Formats: sequence, structure tokens, C-alpha cells
Amino acid sequence: MIDIAGNILDIKSKLPSNVTLVAVSKTKPVSEILKAYDSGQRIFGENRVQELLAKRDLLPNDIEWHLIGHLQTNKAKYIVPFVSMIESVDSLKLLKTVNSEAAKISRTVRCLLQIHIASEETKFGFSPEELISILDSGEINDLQYVKVCGLMGMATYTSDTVRVRSEFRYLSDCYSLIKKRYFDADPLFSDISMGMSGDYTIAVEEGSTMVRLGSIIFGERK
Ligand SMILES: *Cc1c(COP(=O)(O)O)cnc(C)c1O
Repeated sequence: MIDIAGNILDIKSKLPSNVTLVAVSKTKPVSEILKAYDSGQRIFGENRVQELLAKRDLLPNDIEWHLIGHLQTNKAKYIVPFVSMIESVDSLKLLKTVNSEAAKISRTVRCLLQIHIASEETKFGFSPEELISILDSGEINDLQYVKVCGLMGMATYTSDTVRVRSEFRYLSDCYSLIKKRYFDADPLFSDISMGMSGDYTIAVEEGSTMVRLGSIIFGERK
């Protein structure tokens, strides 16, 4: 039997106090999410909109939901009313859509900009150059109903820890540069979401402020 509550307490006791734990509950049933909830965990991450909506209906409403997977623009409207953070914003078009949906209900949605740092081609995200040219254009400043809180990235899925570390360090460097150049006077731009079950200790050493952990809490997914 997997001790979900025990795993959470153990991980939290070892994480630095400035690092937020997002419990990634994708594919896991509501009964298991409740075990994590009962241990005090309130921030949960899901990667699919349908699954997130279904679970949200069945779970306590003080849960802070983070969307961590690719979001199609036509689905933004379903989560904008309640989502605590969209960590996986990977296009200006999506950011604009989230903004206009949020404007309709006068809500501000916190977002992270996802940067592509892995060598796999399948992973979504901006290239740093692309993101810098968007930031230079000033278009993001016009979006009043999104709050850009930082960057998110996923390292290559590999046992090569030297490589993983260098990808995280690269994301950290991108964060520092972007913070300095575009968000220097903005205390809310403060997050680097990086680190999953297999690599979060390295991510934390490289400056992560938010780790997204699934299997190490809930057990392997089928
Ligand atoms: C599934 C997922 C995670 C968690 O993965 P684990 O290896 O189970 O910790 C983290 N981030 C994203 C974006 C994911 O899709």
C-alpha cells in the first residue's frame, strides 16, 4: 500500500520553505486525492481539462488547481473561472485567449510561461528567443487579466543527471534574465516551476520554487 499522506509529509519536510509543492494527481482517483488533501495538501496539478473539471466537481472547493499540460485555446474558457494557475502557457495566442475569457468575468488568472528546455521535440513551450521577442513587443503588458508569475519547464526524460542539471540551470538563467529585463519591479514574477518525481532534487538545487510531483506521492501511473 502506498502511504500518500506519509509521502507528502516526508517530501514537504525536506523541501526548502520557499518551494511550493504541486501534487500531480492526473489519472489518480478522487479517493486518493482526498488522502493527500487530508494530509494538508491543497495545491493539485492536472494536465487535462476534462479530467480536471470532473474531479473538481467531486472535491473540496478550497483546492487550488494548477493546469500543467498543454491547453487548447478553445478549452481555456472552462477553467479560467476557477483555476489557480495555468503553468503551461506556450503561445501568445493562448495568453490572449485566457486574458479575454478572464476579462469577461473580471478575474485575473495567474500564468507561467512554459519554456522548451528538453531535447525531446514533443515537449511544448516557447524557445527563449521567441519569448524574448514577445516580451520586447510589449504585447503582454496590455493583457490586464493575466498575471505572469514566472516560468515553467520540463527537463529531458533521461538518467543523465548532468544533462538534466544543465537544462534546469538554463531555465534558471532564462528566469534571471527575463526577471531583470522585464519584471524587475514586479514582486509577483517570482516562480520557476521545474522538477518532477525523478529530478526534483536537482531542480531545487538549481533554483526551483515550484515542484510538480506525481508518482513519488501517488505511485506509478498505469
Ligand atoms: C505528469 C507530470 C508531472 C509529474 O510527473 P511525475 O514524474 O509523476 O512526478 C509534472 N509535470 C508535468 C507537466 C506533468 O505532465
